[in-house]
Amino acid sequence: MVKKNLAKKKLIELRNVHFSYGDNVVLEDVSFSVNAGDYVGVIGPNGGGKTTLLSIMLGLLKPSSGQVLIFGKKLSDLKRERAHIGYVPQRLSQLDANFPATVYEIVASGRTAGNGPFHVFSKNDKDAVERALAIAKIGELRHKLIGDLSGGERQRVMIARSLAGEPQVLVLDEPTTGVDIASQEQFYHFLAELNHQHGLTIIFVSHDIDIVANEVHSLLLINRKVVSYGPAKDMINKHYLDDLYGGKIDFTFHPHHHH
Ligand code: ADP
Repeated sequence: MVKKNLAKKKLIELRNVHFSYGDNVVLEDVSFSVNAGDYVGVIGPNGGGKTTLLSIMLGLLKPSSGQVLIFGKKLSDLKRERAHIGYVPQRLSQLDANFPATVYEIVASGRTAGNGPFHVFSKNDKDAVERALAIAKIGELRHKLIGDLSGGERQRVMIARSLAGEPQVLVLDEPTTGVDIASQEQFYHFLAELNHQHGLTIIFVSHDIDIVANEVHSLLLINRKVVSYGPAKDMINKHYLDDLYGGKIDFTFHPHHHH
């Protein structure tokens, strides 16, 4: 989360990546890179390979062929750097939501994740947790049980949990599922702030192109292959979206409301 000296540095790079489940070709010749400071929306139809691509970027799935470089390193050479990619899942699992854990404990667990279960919680760790709570503006919720929060508050907790690990990249998977519109807007505002003020690189996977295209800077349209990748504002009202979604989407672009 350091702004200086990161401009243009390639954080994630895929080169000619192919991926199949058996005979089912899910990704074909996918190449793109995400630079430090980018805010990228990955969109595409259901079954288009978004989740698979996300797992590959996180290093959880190995491509059938092609190369994945994370912070300039091959997956096989990655060690602790893996922790520099923060993953925010769609929602808390039901187990987590019912677990009698406080906001503080959940956020702190983002600190221990990369360090193993027997990691001793240091002053550094505590400071990182406090920063994460402050950035996500959930300090006053710290003693609340996770099960007592609203959907929007839980989302912030999930982000704070990732931030506690001091990631360079935040990867979000359909992050607003089941959250009301007002909370969604606050959430997008918060993400824009993280990107803009804290220089955090964000990759946002969604099928909600209307919202996403108005928030992110670049759009990666994926449907097995990379249909297109470029500035969001150049890509809307183009044939890509018709091709991608079969012309079923009434897509409007609103002026960017970043500050
Ligand atoms: P999206 O996230 O864009 O909906 P996915 O990456 O989830 O797309 O899925 C792409 C394709 O891969 C689909 O055809 C899906 O059926 C298939 N697929 C996804 N996960 C698995 C799996 N674990 N085993 C077999 N096929 C899978």
